[in-house]
Amino acid sequence: MDHDYRIAREKMVKNQLIPRGITDPGVLNAMRKVPRHLFVEEALAGEAYNDHPLPIGHQQTISQPYIVALMTQALELTGKEKTLEIGTGCGYQTAILAELSEKVYTVERIRPLMEKARALLAELNYLNVIFSAFDGTAGWKAYEPYDAIMVTAGAGKIPQPLLDQLADGGRMIIPIGDKTSQDLIRITRDKDHVDKKSLGGCRFVDLIGIHGWNK
Ligand code: SAH
Repeated sequence: MDHDYRIAREKMVKNQLIPRGITDPGVLNAMRKVPRHLFVEEALAGEAYNDHPLPIGHQQTISQPYIVALMTQALELTGKEKTLEIGTGCGYQTAILAELSEKVYTVERIRPLMEKARALLAELNYLNVIFSAFDGTAGWKAYEPYDAIMVTAGAGKIPQPLLDQLADGGRMIIPIGDKTSQDLIRITRDKDHVDKKSLGGCRFVDLIGIHGWNK
């Protein structure tokens, strides 16, 4: 069984990630390693490595593997970063970030999702992740600044507190658009200069909160 899943992960990397331009060896290795099938309901485990998102309950979804890899690659992680993730969901992306960061701070507004993710990551022995349940559109002031920030839900505009909490030289990735489609925006900060670049279209669930969409 575990062996089959390892083969499924290898195929996912070979067929879905490498041909579409995922080249960062750290990202590819993390995608080869993290057992994505454990992050979805048992009935969906057989589909976990397919080329699409899947439901995780509470009307939320785990992103398609390629999108997880693309967003992670955009952060250019080296293993030394303090990384903030907004939208823990099932915790799969969190585990990928934990493989490549020194420390991950992750925020989820739906407490039962956060608790489930926290239990699973503890079971998988990720010791460098701090979880909390609140509205992450205001960032997480206690631990700022962050070298990398990833937002895994779609917003109409970049929440200002997240820009304020991004370190000098930091990178942020966030889907920006309307409620039906967004562009993945990569933001880099060099002192007071903020640079933005689109990495292409995507479709995420809503980022809900004071600096996001209304409920
Ligand atoms: N990376 C997650 C994606 C989950 S979908 C995964 O792969 O499972 C996006 C998540 O963002 C949802 O769980 C949703 O509840 C959460 N979310 C939406 N708005 C939020 C906010 N303001 N603060 C924290 N989490 C938020």
